[in-house]
Amino acid sequence: MFDSFFGGSSRQTPNRGADLEFQINVSFRDAAFGVPKELKINRMEPCERCNGNKAEPGTEVMECPGCHGEGKVRRTQRTFFGQFEQVTTCPTCQGEKQTVQTACKKCSGRGKERKSRKIEVQIPAGIEHGTKLLIHGEGESGGRGVENGDLYVHIGVEKDKIFDRKGDDVLMIAELNITMAILGGIISVETLDGSSDIEIKPGTQSGTIQRIKGAGIQHIGSSGRRGDQLVELKIITPRKLDEHQRQLMQELAESFGLKRVGKGSGNQHGFFGRFKDAFNGE
Ligand SMILES: [Zn+2]
Ligand SMILES: [Zn+2]
Repeated sequence: MFDSFFGGSSRQTPNRGADLEFQINVSFRDAAFGVPKELKINRMEPCERCNGNKAEPGTEVMECPGCHGEGKVRRTQRTFFGQFEQVTTCPTCQGEKQTVQTACKKCSGRGKERKSRKIEVQIPAGIEHGTKLLIHGEGESGGRGVENGDLYVHIGVEKDKIFDRKGDDVLMIAELNITMAILGGIISVETLDGSSDIEIKPGTQSGTIQRIKGAGIQHIGSSGRRGDQLVELKIITPRKLDEHQRQLMQELAESFGLKRVGKGSGNQHGFFGRFKDAFNGE
């Protein structure tokens, strides 16, 4: 699994549980088509023994004596400018307005406990690298009567060996034998759905781009509208030829009037090759 837990409380507002952050990586193809993913997260949840009310079952929950159940305390301050009344959260009950007689034994009166949970998340088709999914209410518990935090899932999309992406279009490079580029024909290229034949026109130049309509990535949030696949044709010059192929190439070159083709120093039958042959007495 590529899942890793960012952990910790990234944001805690007084009347809400903390948000959680999670990082998950999906393959290029899973990002294109969407995929269900199970996340294992570790988060604070209301204690099961006391249902989050912090009291040992069977014992009393009382009105806070510090604030008489108000949750706030008032303090009067005298300054040079006059008298001010300051209202602050009650330090005894942390604003919860009540305290317990006997703290819950399981959570030691915190009302919360750490739990490991599996959460099923549907990664939507067409998601892009770096997207952050918001899953409402799946963050940490904020305690009794308080809204849960949210869960943010950061999506990383892994690189593909064949495909690249630009918006909703899939990009790829297809290698073309030089004779195919000259004479034209049909090649088969991989697509997200399998493979597709594309027609090569005679006299195709390296860098030509062929478009396969609708073979791209689904536009996120749309019901199936897809981009295209753009195939860049790259003409490959063969590095090795057998004697017959070399002969054909030589004749082809001569038919174009290229008299000095095949005469370079890198060619064993070329200028230096013949010089060497002569030297060896062959
Ligand atoms: Zn408890
Ligand atoms: Zn209080």
